[in-house]
Amino acid sequence: MQYLSDRINRLETSATLAMAAKARELRAEGKKIIGLSLGEPDFNTPDFIKEAAIQAIQDNYNSYTPVDGYDELKQAIITKFKRDNNLSYDKSQIVVSTGAKQSLANVAMVCINPGDEVILPAPYWVSYSDIVSIAEGVPVVVQTHIENDFKMTPEQLEAAITPKTKMLWYSSPCNPSGSLYSKEELRALADVLKKHPNIVVVSDEIYEHINFVGGHVSMAQFEDMYERTVTVNGVSKAFAMTGWRIGYIGAPTAIARACNKIQGQFTSGANCIAQRATIAALEAPVSKIAYMVDKFKERRTLILDLLKEVPGFQCNSPEGAFYVFPNVTDLFGKSFRGKQINNATDLSMYLLEEAQVATVTGEAFGNPNCIRISYAASEEDITQAIQQIKAALS
Ligand code: PMP
Ligand code: GLU
Repeated sequence: MQYLSDRINRLETSATLAMAAKARELRAEGKKIIGLSLGEPDFNTPDFIKEAAIQAIQDNYNSYTPVDGYDELKQAIITKFKRDNNLSYDKSQIVVSTGAKQSLANVAMVCINPGDEVILPAPYWVSYSDIVSIAEGVPVVVQTHIENDFKMTPEQLEAAITPKTKMLWYSSPCNPSGSLYSKEELRALADVLKKHPNIVVVSDEIYEHINFVGGHVSMAQFEDMYERTVTVNGVSKAFAMTGWRIGYIGAPTAIARACNKIQGQFTSGANCIAQRATIAALEAPVSKIAYMVDKFKERRTLILDLLKEVPGFQCNSPEGAFYVFPNVTDLFGKSFRGKQINNATDLSMYLLEEAQVATVTGEAFGNPNCIRISYAASEEDITQAIQQIKAALS
């Protein structure tokens, strides 16, 4: 299309959002699709957060906020970082954005020069590679394996570093594998990075609280990494607030101020009511959201048990987030109901059409051997979906 830029033509559509849209379309045609594609809690936002938002409307919070967020919200974020992560930030280091996705986009735009390489251990969250590309960076994908619980080793990191490496981006707990880096594993990666002081780390901790084993570690907790780590977080997942669109970073002051500058030109800052609601969310003790985490844990056991019965699906045991990421290579080359499955995308499409279950191809996460299934859904839907998948593959 002649009116569109090369930039937008190069960009892929978000595979998670595309699959969710496809499932919606099929439902509108009358098909009964079970949606296990989108990573979105199926809970309502807790009442105490909704009440804070209603109060904010009544108190006439309706003007532009400071570009990087209300002072009280930044203070709540500082207190949260200290309480949960033992990280000390001051207000100049905090930027509130329209979701963690925008936080990531800001960081990419302010840190990446054209041609800079960004190391992405795969599977990585779907939007990382496209956000890096739109900032004219070059994603350097490091393939991890199920045998190592989908975690990057220090040797792999070392081998991926070149003079052009500018950043390392990862999530822990990981979307889509659910893997959690231990303190020792992160320290070993930090030891490699020690030799390369120009590399900035983006530690995406949005699933921090959806952790079934404890022991969440932030890269910035290591003193020698603090000055070059951006800690990304948000309220979408743990507080069931996906649509409220609030994310935030704690970062070295220069990076935070640069994000403030770009946001000042692009958005003027995040929604005022959602910001007030987020103060209530972050000031509450974490125990207030434990009921959701407990449910996710039960569902993890349920889906892992059910998937044992599905031939050709090989799973790791996710320690956090709400996804399973089975390796499905055993099914490649097979035909089902006259359809040949050659890769994860074929399988994901086959499951949509023949099992009426929406999943996401691992291709979108940089691993074409797996598919992602979200278990942020009711027990009934999970059980029904896996039964349908089993039947479609039998
Ligand atoms: N990072 C990861 C790993 C995610 O799964 C998501 C999912 N939405 C985001 C960032 C972005 O979250 P949001 O923009 O809703 O805060
Ligand atoms: N993070 C969620 C997912 O991975 C929501 C979709 C999105 O933001 O792309 O499914």
